[in-house]
Amino acid sequence: MLKFIGSGSAFNTKLSNNSSYYKEGNQMLLIDCGSNIFQRIKENNLLEGIEHIHVLVTHTHADHVGSLADLILYTYYSHGEFAKPKVTVYSPFDTGFSEILRLNGCTNTIHHNEHSIGGSHMVEVIEGLHVVFHRNNHVDELFSYGIELISHNNRVWYSGDSSSIDDKRLMLIHQEYYDIVYVDTCKADYEGNVHLSLNKLDKLIYNDVRNIVWCMHLDEGFIREEAFALGFNVVVNEF
Ligand SMILES: [Zn+2]
Repeated sequence: MLKFIGSGSAFNTKLSNNSSYYKEGNQMLLIDCGSNIFQRIKENNLLEGIEHIHVLVTHTHADHVGSLADLILYTYYSHGEFAKPKVTVYSPFDTGFSEILRLNGCTNTIHHNEHSIGGSHMVEVIEGLHVVFHRNNHVDELFSYGIELISHNNRVWYSGDSSSIDDKRLMLIHQEYYDIVYVDTCKADYEGNVHLSLNKLDKLIYNDVRNIVWCMHLDEGFIREEAFALGFNVVVNEF
């Protein structure tokens, strides 16, 4: 369902910042828009035929929101009808993201629309596609979320940046409630890591459901073959 513009961790610039999208007619769903994502969107003409972009923000680290203000201002002034907001941003209240956008010169309702939502509340983003944000474990200094994407024929779990998978999510994964699961996975494995290592993922997920699990947000040390050997999939950048 999702295509990946970038699949790297913050410092793995080769793979670009982790960001994915989905198109339905002239609408586009975008999950995060890190520092180098606006450039990749523009240079690969991803906005061709798109009239509105719905951006889901998992948290406010720069590799997830660093170029969202560029995307908002660019589409407002230079994509389609002049001076018309074409981006709607969805983020839970406690990420504090509205303030970051305001300080970047992106005014709510003038340059874009904001939809601040509570965790665990279901919101219809594109007709027939509902999303629910769930708080996860990433860093102490800011709130971070994973996202459920539910449509009539698809249930997706997108972990966001997280050092763990909570018990409820694990249960749903093992019950095969989800069709696809995307998980922040890295090679680095040490006490206090704010991302989930492949080693830890191997201990959490039963063998028989690994075919629906896709590793993303890969660090420089990540070795795809190691993930494949364990039965997991690994996302690939679209271009
Ligand atoms: Zn992060």
